[in-house]
Amino acid sequence: NINRGLCVLCLSDWQKGKVKLGHLDLEGALIARDRVGIQDFVLLDAHNSETAFLDNLKKRFTEDLIYTYIGTLLISVNPYKELDIYTKKQMDLYMGVNFFELPPHIYALADNVYHTMLSEANNNFILISGESGAGKTEASKKILQYYAVSCPSSTLMDTVRDRMLMSNPVLEAFGNAKTMKNDNSSRFGKYMDIQFDCQGDAVGGHILSYLLEKSRVVHQNHGERNFHIFYQLVEGGEEDLLRHLGLEKDTKHYSYLVQGECSNVSSINDKDDWKTVKNALSVIDFDANDIEHLFGIIASVLHLGNVHFDGDTKGYATLNTNAALRWLLEIHVLVLHEALTFRKIEAKSEEVLSPFTVDHAIYARDALAKAIYGRAFTWLVNRINESLENRDSKRKTVIGLLDIYGFEVFSVNSFEQFCINYCNEKLQQLFIQLTLKAEQEEYEAEGIGWEPVQFFNNKIICDLVEEKHRGIISVLDEECMRPGDATDLTFLDKLEEKMGNHPHFVTHKLANKKTRKSLERGDFRLLHYAGEVTYCVVGFIDKNNDLLYKNIKDVIRMSKNPIIQQCFPATEGDSRRRPETVATQFKNSLLRLTEILTAKEAWYVRCLKSNDNKQPGKFDEVLVRHQVKYLGLMEHLRVRRAGFAYRRRYEVFLKRYKALCPATWPHWKGVPADGVEKLVQHLGYQPDEYKMGKTKIFIRYARTLFATEDAFEMCK
Ligand code: ADP
Ligand code: MG
Repeated sequence: NINRGLCVLCLSDWQKGKVKLGHLDLEGALIARDRVGIQDFVLLDAHNSETAFLDNLKKRFTEDLIYTYIGTLLISVNPYKELDIYTKKQMDLYMGVNFFELPPHIYALADNVYHTMLSEANNNFILISGESGAGKTEASKKILQYYAVSCPSSTLMDTVRDRMLMSNPVLEAFGNAKTMKNDNSSRFGKYMDIQFDCQGDAVGGHILSYLLEKSRVVHQNHGERNFHIFYQLVEGGEEDLLRHLGLEKDTKHYSYLVQGECSNVSSINDKDDWKTVKNALSVIDFDANDIEHLFGIIASVLHLGNVHFDGDTKGYATLNTNAALRWLLEIHVLVLHEALTFRKIEAKSEEVLSPFTVDHAIYARDALAKAIYGRAFTWLVNRINESLENRDSKRKTVIGLLDIYGFEVFSVNSFEQFCINYCNEKLQQLFIQLTLKAEQEEYEAEGIGWEPVQFFNNKIICDLVEEKHRGIISVLDEECMRPGDATDLTFLDKLEEKMGNHPHFVTHKLANKKTRKSLERGDFRLLHYAGEVTYCVVGFIDKNNDLLYKNIKDVIRMSKNPIIQQCFPATEGDSRRRPETVATQFKNSLLRLTEILTAKEAWYVRCLKSNDNKQPGKFDEVLVRHQVKYLGLMEHLRVRRAGFAYRRRYEVFLKRYKALCPATWPHWKGVPADGVEKLVQHLGYQPDEYKMGKTKIFIRYARTLFATEDAFEMCK
């Protein structure tokens, strides 16, 4: 009967085979504790010291212990190397065990969420956050794998389970790419619901995707790649398939693939990944036809990129060859040719063809490529959702997994980074609302004595971006709607005029004054919660409008490719109403996401980047300290420490544990609060372990509740 506290401290060593459980003594425990640090920051003595916090993280990281708790929040530090902690054996170890009994692990969190969902029959979600490359996507995959392996199953469920697992490599192939920050960077946001029936079987799933970075299809910065799928197809595609699609087996042939000058990445094996993706597609129910049509689209995008234009004597665009067009989308060459070099203008009763300049033609070509890829991606997500759909309408509860692109700062930041970083502001805001703010408000509402913890609330930045009529998105939309001479620079002027005095917006004039350097025009700077980012305004208007010329749309509709037909329905665009801009659509989708999430119980994984060079085992203290700061982890710890890990409504608590005390069994006749008081006194709760609120009991330590839970299990 080992004291549970000691057990917690030493198990990680025990797992690594360093300490034999049978020989555990106090001294051993203390030594172990010294080397592996503290597993839960709530237990850290110097809890107010950022340095102690970092020391502890570093100590653990050095021992390959990448996970640490703050209460039930899991911190994960990216090791950039494979650790032997994701085996089936490890999964078994964590299955159904009380949260704090084993060393921190992503499996412990996954397991705890699962059992909470089952015992309370409620909906949950796991918010995985952190900057680009911090390990969010890996974490979400580990959680999904854990559920796939550890949940009970039947043959029927096995299909759902396989499909859910296999949706990952497919979506990653089409939606991830190498960036300067991460070789496998998610370029879309993903929220996945895993649905369980009341026995805890995974019975279905649903994926919501957010704003894919379409511009990557036609342009990649130096050192970056296009979406993985292009390279997989070209490198790994079977001879027959490539011949059928008119593709050469060399990425160098395709101008959409060579701009970043890094087609080959040492950490990526496109050939192997191709096989994985093909296999995954068959698991999620794609037949040979679907696959042919889907890759017909991918190939078309590559061919489109190879369509080049020359200028005639008047500067108008002419196509220098029809060769690539032959393969495109099963549309007649001449029709496409015309659509790419002329714009059709409808004037009164007649149609006038107006020739494109070379630049204009390139623009139209790229717009077409982006539209095709973007819509095919949406189609793919819908198709996966069909295959994951749970057709049984019995009661179900869900665990949602949110894995979205992380905060990012490049040397040049554009509209895409603006959207991505705005999204991260929103998630930070949600985190603040659900933890720091709601937590403290609840203590107040319940009349529990409380010393408020100060924290930086980033709502001010969210407002700066999204506020109606006043935020940056509104200003951008206004410029987009304004007929006439609106440009990226007039947009910038408006911003400076309207936001000039905002504490989180830096105009050139101000920057000028401060640095006394003359800055080039064309960008604005936002002071995000996670750091300063300078955004170059070039392309903001275009990308926000995301228009596709009508005659190009008309031409695409002639395609015989059934996926394209679904992506560009004939009924679209009939209405005269202007479609919502990209930023506004994104804003609204984030609003809906917030609503989805706030209706569920929240759990958090905070991923930290250990260094900027993807270097195994390197702990860059400055970098980690910065993240600890802006993620608000110290504040979270302060609230957690001063606060109460668990709370239950009196009725709920009494109903569950009444059998543990003669005074409350079988029925308590008085008000529930008094019954609970009797109950916990009988159980020997110490005064510092709990507080009685207006409607709930607040329990400070997890161990207290676990002891009660254990007693309950024994008496059952
Ligand atoms: P994010 O989604 O936060 O941008 P990823 O999850 O894609 O970051 O992680 C980036 C890279 O870091 C991965 O490709 C992998 O090489 C490494 N990595 C992340 N988490 C882990 C982990 N738990 N163990 C080993 N390597 C990891
Ligand atoms: Mg990711």
